[in-house]
Amino acid sequence: MSASGYEQEHATSAGVRIICNAMPVAVHGNGAVREVEFAYTVETPEGLKSTGETFRIKADQVFKAIGQTLSGLPAGITTAGGKIAGLPPKVWAGGDCTGGGEDLTVTAVAQGRDAAEDIHAFLKG
Ligand SMILES: Cc1cc2nc3c(=O)[nH]c(=O)nc-3n(C[C@H](O)[C@H](O)[C@H](O)COP(=O)(O)OP(=O)(O)OC[C@H]3O[C@@H](n4cnc5c(N)ncnc54)[C@H](O)[C@@H]3O)c2cc1C
Repeated sequence: MSASGYEQEHATSAGVRIICNAMPVAVHGNGAVREVEFAYTVETPEGLKSTGETFRIKADQVFKAIGQTLSGLPAGITTAGGKIAGLPPKVWAGGDCTGGGEDLTVTAVAQGRDAAEDIHAFLKG
């Protein structure tokens, strides 16, 4: 899950350790978690890929944070960096699924408003 530099600084100043690009591969324990195993990764054109080399971190709790990906998009919609980049006529999009935004609620709301105004103008000819 992405976080701004400011948010990361907040977390690290409170003792949070941030490890980037580590891929969780296993939870170890006997009835309760004791360790989580992660794989080191390398960046490839298809995204992060495991190197096969792993490391473990002691843990007594695990919180899962999942992301969302775009799939099965209708024809004519193009993506860049996993976000909507181009739209065919008569299709509108806004919010976190689109690129170029700041992934903020206020941006999503503004883009929804702009889309509504544009749809209204289109329908009125
Ligand atoms: C931990 C966290 C903290 C945040 N803090 C802030 C903050 O302090 N200030 C701020 O401005 N922003 C914050 N954000 C960002 C903000 O939540 C998003 O920018 C905003 O919610 C984007 O709105 P959206 O409508 O584009 O997407 P979403 O709010 O994600 O809405 C998308 C909706 O579509 C639904 N959906 C997905 N797939 C389908 C499908 N196939 N069919 C039907 N429905 C579907 C989802 O269930 C979801 O309800 C935070 C985000 C996170 C994760």
